[in-house]
Amino acid sequence: MFDLKKHIRPNILALQPYSSARDEFTGKEGIFLDANENPFGEMNRYPDPYQNDLKNRLAQLKNVRKEQIFIGNGSDEIIDLAFRIFCTPGQDKVLTFSPSYGMYEVSANINNVELIKVPLDENFQIDLTNLQAYWKDSNIKLLFICSPNNPTGNCLNRKAIEYCLLNFDGLIIIDEAYADFSSEESWVNQVEKYPNLLVTQTFSKAWGLAAARVGIAYSNVEVLHYFNKVKPPYNVSTLNQNAALQALNNIDLFEAQKNILLQERQKLTQALSELPFIQKVYPSDSNFILIKVEDANWLYQQLVEANIIIRNRSKLIENCLRISVGTPKENKVLLDAINTIFVETQTLK
Ligand SMILES: *Cc1c(COP(=O)(O)O)cnc(C)c1O
Repeated sequence: MFDLKKHIRPNILALQPYSSARDEFTGKEGIFLDANENPFGEMNRYPDPYQNDLKNRLAQLKNVRKEQIFIGNGSDEIIDLAFRIFCTPGQDKVLTFSPSYGMYEVSANINNVELIKVPLDENFQIDLTNLQAYWKDSNIKLLFICSPNNPTGNCLNRKAIEYCLLNFDGLIIIDEAYADFSSEESWVNQVEKYPNLLVTQTFSKAWGLAAARVGIAYSNVEVLHYFNKVKPPYNVSTLNQNAALQALNNIDLFEAQKNILLQERQKLTQALSELPFIQKVYPSDSNFILIKVEDANWLYQQLVEANIIIRNRSKLIENCLRISVGTPKENKVLLDAINTIFVETQTLK
């Protein structure tokens, strides 16, 4: 049995949250003289603190209840809120896998919380035996599972995740920033089944709104109660809420762009696999591809000189580079550049 209250920091349990003017009166009509706003202009009013229009639309689309949705200023805000709600600084700990998304570690460090990084196996999958040592540590409050995983690109095994959900006594955050690019089923519709599950998604990747900073958490009402309690009252601006709503109202564009990116991922994977000095092209469920080469630092630098910026991940995984899938034209320029680099090194030899 997951006892949520046991895992919430005592000061958060006791917290009297800020009550905004818009919390006390939620009607839309009236003369608003309650929030010291400027009565003139277009952007003069504070945003809806609970993003109701956006949540209604998402609830329809994802087949969840509105109360199961939380909106953050990017999913990075949601990650940070999880630390602040669950982890007492200098005392509690958090689990994740390695290699994975760097923000878990940065957020852990900011909050003075120890992050334990459990290595993934050689196929970048969860090795449950590596986790055994940690199940019983009552100071471990969170487990971050990034699936599809950044920077490896693959989804983590469903059965292994399920095992974690059933055996870990703490909140499990499944980071699905790239789920739109994956053919695997999302965990969003499992949040009622597992009381310790929170799933994050984002408008920053497939929805094309990285500039707007809108992240989504799906969980049960009990867990989200604390996120609503701790979040800054007006954490998502009206501009950003509207940008996300507009994107949701243009699903055709979303689908069209996603299909191009999936086709390009396939083409790029194929073309990269055929290049002689690329040792491995890892299969991807995301909009990026991880490759292993002989000398990652060298190829990275060569591409920078050709004005093409990819992500050097060789400090995380030996000689690995991460390439985001671009437009068809950008991908062609990349492949041509790699070919040119290859031909030039051949003639030098
Ligand atoms: C890009 C990314 C995000 C997105 O974060 P936002 O703050 O929503 O832009 C979240 N998680 C992972 C693993 C990512 O790669």
